[in-house]
Amino acid sequence: MKANVITICDALRTSSKQGLDTCDAETLLLHTLQAHHKGRAWLRAHSSDILEPEEAYAYNLACVRRRNGEPVAYITGRREFYGLNLMVDARVLDPRPDTETLVDWALEVLTGLHAPKVADLGTGSGAIALAIQHQRPDALVIATDASADALAVAETNAKRLNLPVRFALGPWLVPIATEPNSANHLQLIVSNPPYIANSDPHLTALHHEPRQALTSGSDGLDDIKHIVKNAPAHLRTGGWLLLEHGYDQASAVQDLLRAEGFDSIQTRQDLAGLDRCTGGSILKPLTNKRSQTFASSAHKG
Ligand code: GLN
Repeated sequence: MKANVITICDALRTSSKQGLDTCDAETLLLHTLQAHHKGRAWLRAHSSDILEPEEAYAYNLACVRRRNGEPVAYITGRREFYGLNLMVDARVLDPRPDTETLVDWALEVLTGLHAPKVADLGTGSGAIALAIQHQRPDALVIATDASADALAVAETNAKRLNLPVRFALGPWLVPIATEPNSANHLQLIVSNPPYIANSDPHLTALHHEPRQALTSGSDGLDDIKHIVKNAPAHLRTGGWLLLEHGYDQASAVQDLLRAEGFDSIQTRQDLAGLDRCTGGSILKPLTNKRSQTFASSAHKG
C-alpha cells in the first residue's frame, strides 16, 4: 500500500489524535464526502474506503477550522433544529439544541388557540420562528431582526422549507410597533436574545459568532429588560412572553416580569438541567378592573 493512501478510518484516527471530538469529526467527514444524509453508521461500514487526495485535503482543512473554534455548523453550513434542516453561517448565531426547550414551551402555550399570532424577536437563522410555523401551520408568525444579514439567512431558510413566516427588519418589537393596529394583538412573544455579559470570559470561545447576537451590557440583561418592558403593549390578555436566558439569570428575569405585571411566571430547564427559559402571561390592568367589577356586582347581587 502506498504511504499516502488515507482511508476513512485513518482520517478519523488522525483527527482524534489531534484532539477533535469524535462526533464533530464524523460530521465533518460526512460533510466532506457529501454524505451527510448517509449517517455515522455508513462511515463505520466504509471505514476501509480510500479518500481521494482532494477529499483528504478538504477534510483536513475542515478539521483545522474546527480546532480553531469555528462551530461545526458554520463549516458544514447546516444545523438541524427541531427536526428542520437549517442553513447557517457566520451571519447568525449557531442555533443550540437547548433552545428547543423554548420551542416546546411555545407550542404548549399555543395549544388550543386557533390561528395564533406569534412574534419571534431577534430571529437570527429563523430557527425558533420556523420551528413554530412548521409545527403550527395555522399560526401567523412574524420574525424580526436588527441585522439585515441575519434576516437574509432566515428568509432563505423559510423559502427552502416553504414556511410562510413573515420577516421584518428592525430591533425587537420596533418593526411590529410601526404596523397599523399593532397594539395588543399577539398571543405569544418568544425570543432568544443576547444575554451574555460584555466581559464574560466564556466569550473567547464564541468569537466566530456575531457579537451582537451574544452580548447585552454589563450583566447581559439589557435586551431582556427592553423586551420585558415593551412586550405587554403588544400582547393580548392572557398572552405569553417566553425568553431564553443565561443559566444564572432566571431569578432576575422573573423579577423583571413581575415588575411589568406578568403572571404565572415560570422557569424551565435545558437539556443539561440548567435554568434556561423564563416566561409569564400578561393580565391587562383593564381586564383586571373589569373582572373585579363583575365580581363585586355579582357579590352585591
Ligand atoms: N446560549 C448561548 C451560549 O451561552 C448564547 C446564546 C445567546 O446569547 N442568546 O453559548
